[in-house]
This record gives sequence, C-alpha cells and structure tokens, in this order.
Amino acid sequence: MQEQARIVIIGGGIVGCSTAYHLMKLGWRDMVMVEQGPLFPNWGSTSHAPGLMFQHNNSKSVCQLAQWAIELYKEIGAHTPVASFFQVGSLEIAATRERAEDLKRKIGNCRSWGLEAQLIGPTEMKRLVPIMNVDDLISAFYVPSDADVKAAVLSETMVRLCKEKGALTVHERTAVTGIEVEGGRVRSVTTTQGRIKADVVLCAAGIWGPAIGKMAGVGIPLTPMQHLYVRTEPLKELKGETLELRHPVIREQDRDLYYRQHTEAYGFGSYRHDPLPVNVEDIPRRDNAAMLAFTPEHMAESFKDAHHRFPAMAAAGMAQSFNGLFSFTPDLQSILGEARGVRGFWVAEAVWVTHGGGVGRVMAEWIAEGLPSIDLREMDINRFHPHAYERGYIRARSNRQYVEVYDIIHPLEQSGVMRNLRVSPFHSRQAALGAEFFESAGWERPQWFKSNEQLLAGAAFPVRKGWAAKNWSPVIGAEHLACRERVGMFDLTAFAKFEVTGPGALAFLQRMAANQMDRPIGSVTYTAMLTERGGIKCDLTVTRWGAERFWVVTGGSMGLHDLAWLRAHAPAEGVEIRDVTSAYCCIGVWGPRARELVQALSEDDLSNAGFGYLTARRIFVGGVPVIAVRISYAGELGWEIYAPPEYGLRLWDVLWAAGEKHGVAAVGGGAFDSLRLEKGYRLWGAEIHTEYNPYEAGLGFAVILEKGEFMGREALRAIKAAGVKRRLCCLTLADPSVALMGKEPIFDGERVLGYVTSANCGYSVGKSIAYGYLPLTHAVAGTAVEVYYFGERHAAHVTKEPLYDPANEKLKM
Ligand code: FAD
Repeated sequence: MQEQARIVIIGGGIVGCSTAYHLMKLGWRDMVMVEQGPLFPNWGSTSHAPGLMFQHNNSKSVCQLAQWAIELYKEIGAHTPVASFFQVGSLEIAATRERAEDLKRKIGNCRSWGLEAQLIGPTEMKRLVPIMNVDDLISAFYVPSDADVKAAVLSETMVRLCKEKGALTVHERTAVTGIEVEGGRVRSVTTTQGRIKADVVLCAAGIWGPAIGKMAGVGIPLTPMQHLYVRTEPLKELKGETLELRHPVIREQDRDLYYRQHTEAYGFGSYRHDPLPVNVEDIPRRDNAAMLAFTPEHMAESFKDAHHRFPAMAAAGMAQSFNGLFSFTPDLQSILGEARGVRGFWVAEAVWVTHGGGVGRVMAEWIAEGLPSIDLREMDINRFHPHAYERGYIRARSNRQYVEVYDIIHPLEQSGVMRNLRVSPFHSRQAALGAEFFESAGWERPQWFKSNEQLLAGAAFPVRKGWAAKNWSPVIGAEHLACRERVGMFDLTAFAKFEVTGPGALAFLQRMAANQMDRPIGSVTYTAMLTERGGIKCDLTVTRWGAERFWVVTGGSMGLHDLAWLRAHAPAEGVEIRDVTSAYCCIGVWGPRARELVQALSEDDLSNAGFGYLTARRIFVGGVPVIAVRISYAGELGWEIYAPPEYGLRLWDVLWAAGEKHGVAAVGGGAFDSLRLEKGYRLWGAEIHTEYNPYEAGLGFAVILEKGEFMGREALRAIKAAGVKRRLCCLTLADPSVALMGKEPIFDGERVLGYVTSANCGYSVGKSIAYGYLPLTHAVAGTAVEVYYFGERHAAHVTKEPLYDPANEKLKM
C-alpha cells in the first residue's frame, strides 16, 4: 500500500471520484482513494441512485453546482463504456392551484440563475410522456436540460481517467479505521491495510461521514435516512422501447413521488412515509450496504398514487424494490469545507448525485487554490452551532427535512421542531407582549409583537397579499414607523461577539480587515473582511477597547462562519480570539427619542458631544453596568446596549419603563429588515458575500487601500484599476403595494440584467424597495426596468440611494 500521499480521499462514491477528477485537472498527482468496499459499484448510495437530476434550486449556488454537474457528466459520459448520461429533460407536475402558482415562482428563479425552463400544459405533457395520466394536471415546469445519469458508471470513468494520467491510486476493500491529528493538523490516515501519511484528507464517505468525522474529532451533523424505490417489470405500453430513457424524469411533489423510465419499465421513489433514520453504527458493512430490505407498508399509499398517475404500472409486477440509504442534514444543505480546528481535514458530505459533479469542482478549487469560485455559505461546514451536533437535534430536524423535501417552503417558514433552545433574558417580557418568535441559530427572536396591533389604527401603508403575506404581519409596518417616529427596543442578543486580544491583535485585524483598524480607543469601525480575490467574506463592526484589545460584533446566524475565518488566519502566537457571544445580552435602543430615554437612566453624558456616533463606552444604565455602542442598523439615533445576561431582565424593565412616556415600542426582526433596507444597509448573504467586492457593493467608503497590506488588497487594486462591471442598485417599484421576497429576475425587455438580492417595504418613504446588481449601463438613477414575480412583470426604476436619511443626519444628531 502507498504510504504517503498528497491527499487521501475517503470514499469512492460520486463525490470522492468527482473531486479526484477535478483535482487531477488542476494538476494534482500522488492522490490516494481509500474505499472500504469494492470499486465499482461502491457500497454507498451512488451505486443504486436512480440518478434523476433536477437542476432548479431556490439557492443560486446549489443550482450552479447542478449546472456544473450536468456539464461534467455530459463530458464524462462521452468516455463511459455504456450510455450513462441521458439529457431527457424534467417535468415537475402540478395538480393543485397552489403548486401551479409555485411553479411560476420557480420560473422566476430559473431566469435569475440562467437556467432555461418553461411552463407547459397537459397536451404538451402528454406528448412528452404518453403513458402519463394528465387528466387532473394543471401545468408542469419543464427544464429541457435536466437529465438522468448512471452515477456509478460516471464515477468509475472519472477514476479511470485519473489513473490514466497517473494521478490516482485506489485501494479498494480497505477501510479507514483512524485519523491522526496532531497540533490541530491532520497527519495520517490509518486503514485496515496500513497507514498513509497525508496533510490533506477528504471525507467523502456519504452516510458513514459522521463515523469518519469522529475519528478526526470533527462533528458532521447528518443522519442516514431510508428511502424507498421500486422498479416495475416491463410495461406492455412500452414494449419494444430500446432507449433507456426517452421520457423526461418527473416529480409529483404534491404526492411526494418521483418517476423515471427504465427502458420498457418504470421506476418511482417516495418520500411519503414516516422518516426512517438509521444510526451510522448500525449500517452493515457488506456489498450493497446502503440497500436495506424493502418495507412495503411504507409504500402502500404511494403505490395507489403512482398507479393513478401511470395506470400502466398497475398491471405490472415489481422487478426490484429496496430501502436505499442516503444522508439528510438539519437544513437539507450539504456540508462542505475544511473543518474548524483540524487543518487539512476536508468534508464533502450530504451531496446528491445531482450536485456531485459541481461539488467535486468546488472542493478541488477550495483544496488546491484556497477558495471555491462560488459562494458556499449555505453549505459551509462552519455554519453549525454547538446544539446542532447532538444526535437528537440532527435527527429531529433531518426527519422534518425528509417530510418536507417536496413541500412548498416559504423563505420565512419556521421549523416546528427543536425550538426554544436559546432564549434571551428578555424572552418572558417579549412573550408577554405577544411576540411571534422566529428562530435563527437556535435563538428565539421576536419577528413582531401582537401587542403592537394597537399601533395599526390609522396606518396607511400597503398590506401584503398572497405569498408575500405569509409569515408576515402589518404590525411590522407599525413597528417600523414607531422606531422612525419615536423609539424602539430591539433584542440583539443573538449577535455574535468575539474578543480579539494580545500583542499581535492590531496587526492581525489590520491584515484581515479592509478598513482602518488603528483608530483611537473607544472607536467603532464598520469593515468588511475579504478573500484574497477581493470577495466579501464577512462584514462586521470592530470596537477598540485598548491598545491590544478589540471587540468584533457580527450577525448571529453566520457568527461561527466568521469566527472560523478569523481563527483560520490567526497567527500561532500573539493573538487570542474568544467567542463571548453568550457573555452579553443586547438591546438596541433606536429612534429620535433614544437619547432622552437612555439619558434619563444614566449619569453619563450621552449628548452628541459627549458620546459621538461610532464610539463606545462603558456606562451605567438604570444601575446596570453596560457597554454602550453608538451605532444603528436601523439608521436612527441610538445605542446597542450590551450587558451580562444576569442583568438583562432589569435592563429591559428599566428601559421599558423609562420609554413609556416616549411611546417606546418593542420592535421585531421584520421591521429590523425593512428599516435597514430603507437605509440602504447591506445584508451579508444577500447583497454581499464572496462573489461581490466592496466597490460594486457600494462599500468602497470602508476600504482603505493606503493603510498597508491586508487580505484582498491586491485584488481590490486591480478591480479598482479595471473598473467594476456591475453595481448594487436600489430599485423602487411603480406600484408600492407590490411586495417582493427576493431572488426575482430583473429585466430590460427580454434581457435578464440581474436579480433581487433583498426586497421589503420602505414604510416611512412609502415605497416598495428592491436591491440588485445591475450592469453599469443600467446602474443609473432613473433607468426603467421590470421585475418578474409569480408570472407578472412589475415596472420599477433605479433610484438614488439610500432612500432614507442620505446625509446620515438622524444617526449623527
Ligand atoms: P457514497 O456513494 O455513499 O460513497 C461513499 C463511500 O465511502 C462508500 O462507497 C463507502 O463504502 C465509503 N466509505 C465509507 N466509510 C468508509 C471507510 N471507513 N473507509 C473507506 N471507505 C469508506 N440523488 C440524486 O441526485 N438523484 C436521485 O435520483 C437520487 N436518488 C436516490 C435514490 C435512492 C434510493 C437513494 C438511497 C439515494 C438517491 N440519491 C439521489 C442520493 C445519492 O445517491 C447520494 O446522495 C449520493 O450518491 C452520495 O454520494 P457520495 O459519494 O457522497 O456517497
């Protein structure tokens, strides 16, 4: 056995093989693949996946991974010994009005993501799939470039191509039994055949991923799930068929079913049964390990539904039926990236065949070049908070994902399971005010307060309808206006907070941040942290507390992602980074009356001269020792007030009582978003992420090229010299009552210019607002465009931004 390798890839499924292939194309040699079973087909899920590929996804990145997989499988398919790539297109069929409406939304996504798709009626469906009963169908979403693939054959061929280049050695029937980690780095892999030294290891072990992760001390929160698949005997209606697939692959989501042709026969898989999770330790280690015995009782209802849709199947027997195993995660997304705490240990888990080809590509880029070419925030291994590693949590949330996999999921839909994990000290007060809690990173955060319904009297802003009205309340508008006109109290406890200290702290932050970090003690700086390519990896605020002491505050949901980025780049000595998120609760007190409110509770000078904008101080508020930071994501006068959690309830109560005479309102996350958008503040993960640079995002003001070396500076210099090609723009819709949800395509005639990154109502400016990147030709105030939403086009025009308080007078008063 080879004793040393540049990389050890664990697992010979589609993910391991595709990553090896892409690394080979990037010039990597001396790679080893270790597989516990035979190759090929492998023991894992790839061996028996029926291989349907539906590229559309609500996530642009996930759709891109599928688009790349299609390209790859087409290319590799030309080298396979048997046909393995069938570009027959796909249909998602709608038998209900709600589904038919949702298909229109998907058409919008496809236009945004550059995927050709169309809606077709029953006659066209019948032409494409003559044996399908279309009598009760309204429409179908047709993607002509979708496909079906033989993933095991493609995997085998990619490995053969790697071997032909002398790039890869494969050890089959060789199980990994241990991973040596020393000094926070992976050093070697122990197998049943011996030890292989390597600085880079990729865990592509599919449903066995958590067991491999455990060997390296890395949590991989997925659960193997049983999934039922059936293939019929030949159908007499397809007798004489010679093509393996002629019909498009089909999804009937309202009945949790999907179908594909197998030459003269048909196959279908079902999600319409109670979830059947399996313990990783209980998966057998044998041929066809990922195929368990068929449990017909879980398929009973689906047989009836399948026979209704394909009456020809009713007369045919079953040729094959099994419960396959594949991975589900708490948020349905894959788990990709280098594990925090174990350098060199990479993970590519919970990946469907549909995305395997694209995932191989980005993993190879990431491992070989340090960065993937697209933003992978939704799949980042570092997104999980501590509670997400517990088996009970993983199972409960993953089960939910299995049940809902084909449901129409609203972007603000809340999970009904594993709630109330993290609550702020204000929770009881908020519940008493009728808070509607939304969950993020385990935190329960008020979205709006029923008690604020009284503020609706006389309100004149538009009320949302349809899709946009789900998980929404007009109270959000009233809370928005209460903050703008009087003062609001926002629970910001979920913000992630890190302390960066030590003799190397300033130099480290200077290297990480695009803005100037060497500022006077007590100053607060908004900054982006960039990738070497100039993409925005995170945006956050940094407060300087001392010569060698800084405080970093960032959004709650992506906090651990940002922390991992900081830790991954911290020097071995001279800098300490501590996560102090749980050490502070926080209330944002924002609005024109914020100063009067807080000053009444404090002997400290809170005047503009005494406590300026973008400064921070330790003060007392109502007897509570707090850190007050004069900044506002709502765009109003006020402070973020941080206190140890045990003082939290008192802090809330004293502020609330003092606020009564100022008309204080508790304000939830719904208004937090509309306020920030009206003020033009960017949201990481929407307007900004690694695919955008600060210049095109309108954040050039926070980049100080002259301050000295920092990560991404060279790239930014080049971008600045060449000039940007697109710009983030503010659009206002002609009809202020139209509420968009984000991701909608923006058109100039038939040309797609970009898509909506965020949208909301600007309750105080009386406009429906959408942001999106537009080419420079269109990034000019006054330019007319159209936005497609649920099958209709809405007129909009580019508007000078921000719409609210462009001179920052409110913030600085
Ligand atoms: P795998 O194919 O499972 O490969 C992992 C490999 O790692 C295995 O071969 C395993 O033996 C090896 N390994 C594990 N532990 C060790 C160890 N200790 N040492 C050495 N080797 C180890 N996806 C789609 O996109 N479209 C579909 O239509 C589709 N249909 C499906 C239908 C069914 C019934 C099932 C079960 C899955 C389906 N999937 C589908 C999902 C898809 O099959 C999987 O998500 C995908 O194949 C996973 O690929 P992988 O490379 O990550 O894992």
